[in-house]
Amino acid sequence: MSQIVVLSEETISKISAGEVVERPAAVVKELLENAIDAGATKIIVKIQEGGKKSIYVSDNGNGISQEDAELALLRHTTSKIRNATDLTNVSTLGFRGEALASICAVSRMEMTTRIKGQTTGTKIIAEGGIIKEKSEVASPIGTMIFVRDLFYNTPARKKFLKIAPTEFNHIFNVIRHYTLRYSTIYFQLIHNDRDIISTPSKTLLGRITDIYGKDIAQEMISVNYSTDDIKITGYISSPNLTRGDGSYQSIFVNSRYIKDSRLTKNIENSYGQLLEKRRHPIIILNLEINPKEVDVNVHPTKREIRFSKEKLILKALKTSIINALAEKDHIPSVEIREEPLLRATISPDTLIEEIVSHDISKSEDTVKTTMGKPEITSITPPLRYFDSSAEPVALLRKDFTIDKLGDLVLLGQAHFTYLIFQDKEGLILVDQHAADERVQLEKLTKKYMNSIDTQELLAPLKIELKSHESEMLKNNLDALNEYGLNIEHFGGTTFVIRSLPIGPVDVNEIKEMIEELISSGDLENKETLKETIIKLMACHSAIRAGDKLSADTSLSLIKNLFQTENPYTCAHGRPTLIRISSKQLEKLFKRIA
Ligand code: ADP
Ligand code: MG
Repeated sequence: MSQIVVLSEETISKISAGEVVERPAAVVKELLENAIDAGATKIIVKIQEGGKKSIYVSDNGNGISQEDAELALLRHTTSKIRNATDLTNVSTLGFRGEALASICAVSRMEMTTRIKGQTTGTKIIAEGGIIKEKSEVASPIGTMIFVRDLFYNTPARKKFLKIAPTEFNHIFNVIRHYTLRYSTIYFQLIHNDRDIISTPSKTLLGRITDIYGKDIAQEMISVNYSTDDIKITGYISSPNLTRGDGSYQSIFVNSRYIKDSRLTKNIENSYGQLLEKRRHPIIILNLEINPKEVDVNVHPTKREIRFSKEKLILKALKTSIINALAEKDHIPSVEIREEPLLRATISPDTLIEEIVSHDISKSEDTVKTTMGKPEITSITPPLRYFDSSAEPVALLRKDFTIDKLGDLVLLGQAHFTYLIFQDKEGLILVDQHAADERVQLEKLTKKYMNSIDTQELLAPLKIELKSHESEMLKNNLDALNEYGLNIEHFGGTTFVIRSLPIGPVDVNEIKEMIEELISSGDLENKETLKETIIKLMACHSAIRAGDKLSADTSLSLIKNLFQTENPYTCAHGRPTLIRISSKQLEKLFKRIA
């Protein structure tokens, strides 16, 4: 396969130039892309010290012939395009012919490679861009590249590298994205001899499970949409599952990982009111577009692209998301069958908009409850649930007081999870966990407004995390300490918790809480870290779904709920209660048309 050519000056001048290798993760990205372009089905990445010490990538792809091996390391040599015209129709991840040369120039590099038709492979040893040794060696088919001492000869650049865990985190993210795109390729990532990623699954949903875990995979909604111009496939998370940052968003255009805020904003906007402010869904989407309609030659690292039919692409993307979200029920409503009579009047947008976004005004006419019980603020939000053209119905009447059970009657608890009430306007269902979470959240927020007090644990608690979780946690122990969570790294993936914020959280829940904190993505976001910790504490101290509640507890729960400032949503933005109006019941039972 003597296919590598040296590009002409004319072609080179048309390729968007710039630095490709700015940190270890960039090396990993380029080597992965080469392995994928070579048709590998198994790619193994081994890293030492965040890639600062060494990066090793081996693949079982096509390999490079003895004739071409040396050429591959030179600048502007590629087997993927021939001339400038090919630039308008690139179907491989690479095409600039620069990566190996750039990596080789700033490291000590060894490459061993063999193609199918040749019985021996080639080994090349190079240093700072100069080939020191070339030999014939025994080698499996495929390519193995070992990069050591990155930037050893460019100290200025070396100085800009971050500590190993941070560099490693970048590498982890690069590989994570690719494992989610190429579900038929087996990936393995080993850092400092520890297994971090391994991907046995061959389907995308399986991959999501491999990388993000079962809980996240379960909340994913499949996207499958095509027009003449574009085919969109993959998964997005239901609005109930969002993160504080956009790091769990993998968008690919013709299989190339793209970081482009036009695309992510477009997707997030398509969620409309379903998405809580400042929250980001998890996205794994591939957009297939005729390569002629995409310009990948915009940015040296190929992260940005241009579409010739941008408007059409964005419109299709939006439709694909709206359709996918509409397939699944995220909305607090009773199930409506295919009855045209009812179906036509419901739009998920209006429903959620009204439940989540209305303004809860505390009016002056506060009602005192009997027997010195706490004040209940009267609430008059105009809420409509089923028929957006109908007259708005107050969720709770103006003169609503809990003690007057004439108004609000507790009917019972369903599945030890939902409290059922009736009032004059119909039924109210309360999610007991969501409701109590809201109550706890506001309590804790007030309590921790200024500072979080700490309690020492009598017996320090040892927890064991997954490898990538442990890397994340290790980097952020100082920040957590500021908020009363004193955690020490014990060695390996083991941590010891010495103190906690004073609060209602049971020690047994701590491990889960820490795991959620890590997976929330908010650990690195100093601005929202305190808020996230408080939300998690609220969640873990709240009444759970499945808890049997007495009538007294149920009543005081709803009473407390209506003293909160935002009784309608829980800490995660889910509704705490829904209403089924009498009118709706009548419609469902066809008492009225
Ligand atoms: P590009 O990928 O843009 O062509 P690179 O510098 O990354 O440029 O690689 C140069 C050439 O070396 C590629 O075009 C390809 O022919 C060959 N090559 C690099 N890595 C591999 C690999 N892992 N397997 C097979 N061929 C490879
Ligand atoms: Mg390449």
